[in-house]
Amino acid sequence: MSVAAEPGRTKPAPVVARVPADPAPSVQPDTGRSHEGSPSESDLRDPLTGLGNRRHFNQAIVQVLASIAPADRAALLMIDLDRFKNVNDTLGQTVGDALLRLVTRRLQQSTRGSEMIFRLGGDEFAILLRNGVDAEVLADRLVDVLGRPYLIEGQVANIGASIGVAAVTENDATAANLVRHANLALHSAKAAGRQRWHAFEPLMAQRADTRRGLEIDLRKALRMGEFRLVYQAQMNIQARAVTGFEALLRWHHPTRGLVPPDIFIPIAEEIGAIVAIGEWVLRTACAEAVNWPGNPVIAVNVSPLQFEDRDRLLATVHRALSTSGLAPDRLELEITESALLRQDRGILETLHRLRALGIRIAMDDFGTGYSSLSQLMAFPFDKIKIDQSFVRGPAAGAGGTAVVRAIAALGASLGMSAIAEGVETAEQALMVKTNGCTDIQGYLISKPIPGDQVLEMLRTSSLGTVSEKGLES
Ligand code: C2E
Ligand code: CA
Ligand code: CA
Repeated sequence: MSVAAEPGRTKPAPVVARVPADPAPSVQPDTGRSHEGSPSESDLRDPLTGLGNRRHFNQAIVQVLASIAPADRAALLMIDLDRFKNVNDTLGQTVGDALLRLVTRRLQQSTRGSEMIFRLGGDEFAILLRNGVDAEVLADRLVDVLGRPYLIEGQVANIGASIGVAAVTENDATAANLVRHANLALHSAKAAGRQRWHAFEPLMAQRADTRRGLEIDLRKALRMGEFRLVYQAQMNIQARAVTGFEALLRWHHPTRGLVPPDIFIPIAEEIGAIVAIGEWVLRTACAEAVNWPGNPVIAVNVSPLQFEDRDRLLATVHRALSTSGLAPDRLELEITESALLRQDRGILETLHRLRALGIRIAMDDFGTGYSSLSQLMAFPFDKIKIDQSFVRGPAAGAGGTAVVRAIAALGASLGMSAIAEGVETAEQALMVKTNGCTDIQGYLISKPIPGDQVLEMLRTSSLGTVSEKGLES
């Protein structure tokens, strides 16, 4: 792995280095304060460990960068302790403090003394290497040394360290860039499973730039009218008829083209934009579905974030129904287990209040994550959607079949219908049917299609032939 950024390929970063995907706070050089008189020694020290604090770090990094020669191999190591919070919570703050001092001692013993070590706050440390030290060798040693058990007041604490390494390169030697690069590398090390070090690579900055670009564009996408809905048919096996459609969101980006929801929805959730987008989805889906013949159900996905403001969600649903004139029993909200996990009792009450409006509630992606029997018993869902991973793909097969059978039986005993998602082939349709599913959704029936095609499908009953699609036993 190379520490050096490829010359000329990294774009200059803004002075305020903000890395949205990176939980580690970024650091800005403290240049503006140099005119306010020099800070006292105690302003620059962390009282617990005696190391330089963040303010000291901000000054030191600017000074080092200004004073090094091009041939010096200066570098920055950003260090984040893994599981420190756990120790603090279980063994207490006194032990936590002692642990931070032991970490400090190990950092000091592992370095040659010419390097500058800082505690930036909490369990974050930084090491600034002036020159001549192989940053990668040091990072490797630190992951090993910091990961060994600690003995504190007769108790053993086990923590680890994740480290991001960034080297100063000739054409990229600003403090903000160095900190940003080290933080990106640290984030990469954490994402790869922690207790390891990663060196900065230009690709990390490109990815962060792409993500930031998507974030900026996403904030205005609603205003710019870039979202569309497509609808995917759901079929009742017994009646061999389409009984509903799931609304699925599409983002037509002006330059990137179609961005898949798997990419943009997590970002929209992170930046909170999903609340306004979700409201648009509800309004649009209800307004469009009210014109569909045969009164099919319209299913709308609701993000866990939308449940955090109960009054707003209830008002949105109420307004979407009253404005469109859609009968409440034709609207189904799909919620995932993660929504249920987030707030327990509060969410159950929200679900009951929604149900009181007369709408239906489905549990989405059941079987992934933390689904449990107790979750299903906690609320009388109208429908369980069995995740597609049990129907197709590598996890399907004998194990998948057993799960489908178990969930469908559970649903039947609780009075909930069970719909299998991702049904692509006649064999899969037969499998889910024989194992007790009441409904199916998937490419075998139809891909997601625009609203005008839904109308056509319903008018011409072009799905009248679904009985030939593998559902004969
Ligand atoms: P989901 O709710 O599980 O939606 C089903 C996904 O599976 C859709 O992907 C659909 O196109 C795809 N799919 C359906 N049948 C088949 C099949 O037979 N084979 C294969 N290979 N795929 C099939 P899509 O539209 O890309 O949506 C992905 C996810 O994005 C959705 O998963 C849902 O979690 C989220 N999402 C989509 N629209 C919205 C929305 O309006 N609001 C929120 N909060 N999330 C949404
Ligand atoms: Ca869904
Ligand atoms: Ca699903």
